[in-house]
Amino acid sequence: MRKPIIAGNWKMHKVRDEALEFVYLVSQHVPPIEEVDTVICAQAVLLRSLVKRQGDNLRIGAQNMFYEDKGAYTGEVSPVTLEDAGVKYVIIGHSERRQYFHETDEDVNKKVHAALRHNLIPIICVGERLEERENNLTNQVVERQTVLALKGLTQEQVKNIVIAYEPIWAIGTGRTATAEMANETCGFIRSVIAREYGQEVADEDRIQYGGSVNPDNIKELMAQEHIDGCLIGGASLDPYAFIKMANYKKL
Ligand code: PGA
Repeated sequence: MRKPIIAGNWKMHKVRDEALEFVYLVSQHVPPIEEVDTVICAQAVLLRSLVKRQGDNLRIGAQNMFYEDKGAYTGEVSPVTLEDAGVKYVIIGHSERRQYFHETDEDVNKKVHAALRHNLIPIICVGERLEERENNLTNQVVERQTVLALKGLTQEQVKNIVIAYEPIWAIGTGRTATAEMANETCGFIRSVIAREYGQEVADEDRIQYGGSVNPDNIKELMAQEHIDGCLIGGASLDPYAFIKMANYKKL
């Protein structure tokens, strides 16, 4: 019922030639867009050229943006520019943004509103730190991040978002949450959305897992009831690995 969404987050990797070659190759081997949404999130300066090469079944996303449309905000990227470039998705509130660039839940909320105003689907990242998991605070943390990220949205808008549950201790560490653990937290996030916006909305929302996803563990993760997709960092840099993961049903 929920269409799977497999997204690569390249972070600050790849120059233009590599990126174009990747997208050209991968776009020919991803599943039809009617079956799976396949997305590559690249650095802002690459987005427009990648959109031109995306083909029928691949879509391009940004990794961040600012919440104002325009103005004196040196160095920021406007949602208007992303929409104009043909970008369809934008990652918002990635833990690296929260950690290194001090993004708050309030910033995340403003960015989510701005994305939806400009027809961009926000991929909203939530997730706990290791010490929070060890102190049984996981649910409390992801509940706070989810509720605050969605504050002020209508039910219709909430149907148009993607949540990425990314436990911080699993990002780039090779340490994946077990499929059951990931499913449990994704299910909990869905229950929070159901409480706030109703079960129908929660049933439509796609929730991804992210954190050391690779071609060897993606199938098991995707088989879980509440995991509708993956947000993939390191393993998305290799086109052949990415093609395998986008075609996880055939693994
Ligand atoms: P990783 O990163 O797959 O390299 O752990 C995931 C992410 O940060 O989105």
